[in-house]
Amino acid sequence: MNLQLVTRNPELSTRNMKICTNCILPETFPGISFNSEGVCNHCRQFDAKRSKLAGGRKRFEQKFLDLLTQLINQSASQRSYDILMAYSGGKDSTYTMSLLKNKYRLRILAVTFDNGFISETAVANIKKITDKLGIDHIFFKPGWETLKKIFSKAATEELYSRKSLERASTICTSCMGIVKSLCLKTAIEMDIPMVGFGWSPGQAPLQSSIMKNNPPLIRMAQQAILNPLKETAGDEINTYFLHEKHYSDPEKFPFNVHPMAWEFYNENMIMNEIKKFGWVAPEDTDSNSSNCLLNAFANDVHIKRYGFHPYVWEIANMVREGIMARKEGYEKIYQEQSADLINIAKEKLFESD
Ligand SMILES: [Zn+2]
Repeated sequence: MNLQLVTRNPELSTRNMKICTNCILPETFPGISFNSEGVCNHCRQFDAKRSKLAGGRKRFEQKFLDLLTQLINQSASQRSYDILMAYSGGKDSTYTMSLLKNKYRLRILAVTFDNGFISETAVANIKKITDKLGIDHIFFKPGWETLKKIFSKAATEELYSRKSLERASTICTSCMGIVKSLCLKTAIEMDIPMVGFGWSPGQAPLQSSIMKNNPPLIRMAQQAILNPLKETAGDEINTYFLHEKHYSDPEKFPFNVHPMAWEFYNENMIMNEIKKFGWVAPEDTDSNSSNCLLNAFANDVHIKRYGFHPYVWEIANMVREGIMARKEGYEKIYQEQSADLINIAKEKLFESD
């Protein structure tokens, strides 16, 4: 068996970590166990589920087409947009948006959350792609002082549940929590019946790829993010979350959709497709982001805090599903975070001005 014992990231290599021989989950991942061949419990469970997944993709594509028909029948002419796209300018959301526009012919309002760390190349991509695809677009940028408080707090302590830290860094979870509620709130206010996300198949499962937002669940999810952030950034953070009036009409809650779960996916296909629209890969971001300059620092904090990379769950899922080569996944996860990127983020977050 080819047990991978050498890692290049000094933070991750200090203990000559055991890494699953099938996916890339390390022994430091919470709750993991290995069999005598070095295969982790998640891979063993996946083999049992694999047959169920086959064919599921086609079913979800049909489910989406049925939803579109249903929404068109519900007075589409009274609405300005069919879908609000959470558009980061990264490769996955760019690809997703091109599908929604060109394959599904939807009227899209793209919204980009500017967290103060969008790569310049990503900003150029956002402008270019929305123009090329003929899509209306909004940049939403909260005041920097609020973001600074949130990110610097998330960099120094854990704010969320154990489960959330297995899936993403505390900084990412904070940012995404605001993005998700902001998109939901805007969709409700603007009467847009769907919110689109570019989640990769490793980030979010097929089963959740078309879901109507459920008000009681949203209320709970919001509290989990809002309460810790409020302690840090004060009541002004309420601005980005739902208010009581938004809950008054559950019918207005949109569907969340992430089409990459059922569309065929591999990294090369996506790259080839989005390059046709002029998308350029940023050279200044880390290996797991194609838009955010804060990500390397967020990863570094997480690795030091928990001993595993915050993207390892996502990437391991993709390796296990056969949509990313193990070698490629391994390189994305077990390489050193750029010291330059880490320093840029630290200076911006902790400068005393
Ligand atoms: Zn595994």
